[in-house]
Amino acid sequence: MNNQLIAWGSTVVSLTIIGVLFWLVSLRLPKPEGKNENLRNFHCAHPPSLINKEFRFEGFYPVFSALITKPLIAYGIMVLLSVGRDHLPYQIFAGYVGGLPLLVQILFGLLVIDVSVWIRHGFVHKYFWSFHAVHHSAKELSWMTTHRLHPLDNFVMSLINFTVLYMIGFSAEGMVAAMIIKDFNNYFVHSNIVLDYPKPLKYILVSPNMHRWHHALEPEAHNKNFCVVFAFIDYVLGTYYVPDNALPKGYGSNQTELDDIERKTILSELWIPFKLKRPAMARPPVTSVTLEDSKTGIGAS
Ligand SMILES: [Zn+2]
Ligand SMILES: [Zn+2]
Repeated sequence: MNNQLIAWGSTVVSLTIIGVLFWLVSLRLPKPEGKNENLRNFHCAHPPSLINKEFRFEGFYPVFSALITKPLIAYGIMVLLSVGRDHLPYQIFAGYVGGLPLLVQILFGLLVIDVSVWIRHGFVHKYFWSFHAVHHSAKELSWMTTHRLHPLDNFVMSLINFTVLYMIGFSAEGMVAAMIIKDFNNYFVHSNIVLDYPKPLKYILVSPNMHRWHHALEPEAHNKNFCVVFAFIDYVLGTYYVPDNALPKGYGSNQTELDDIERKTILSELWIPFKLKRPAMARPPVTSVTLEDSKTGIGAS
């Protein structure tokens, strides 16, 4: 009971600190210049608000996740450790990786996680889209959008992240630190901040603008920018798409039956994958939406 309270308390406190921190960062950013109305409609009011229209709805996700999904993930990991230990290779390179200095383990761990994120994220866009589309249904981004995941998508993601690191043989400290940094950057790139990095940094690290393009309505940005920490993985593997001085026209899944759905409860969200008119397992081509002139020439930072 006490442990549960501590876990709940620390989750609420850390989420609040992260939200306030990103809000403060966004207050310090210069006001974006440009005539384009989209900037005001979709991107970042100035001064930016700590929460946006979707926040109240998205706030249910971490609660559901803490009550249902995370315990299931913990159970899945326990099963994996107890049953898989005898049948699966695990801690394969523990002798090499586990003994590396902590900083090297963290950097290497981040690289390994992000490569696995690229593979898993590309996979769900192609074969698991009706579930992952829930994440892409957000019409505005905020740090809370990070949690906007169908429980099954969340379950698969967490289990894969853990399994990859565990099988390779990272120490517990290296594994936890790499996961925390990855999660922190994931909050950052989803937050209500319009920020691109100068070259060559924009090809190395994932910026908030880079992830905004991952959520963009523009068809040319679909199935791009899968990573959450290292932009160079996307760049090298041919899925990098971050136009200079431009922002997307808007965000969403580009499927009207999903974007226009009236969202009332988190439970109704669970059925979305089964309610889609065309239960698309791959992100469908955009035929109904015409989005020309996507490169708006806005000063992005
Ligand atoms: Zn995605
Ligand atoms: Zn996202």
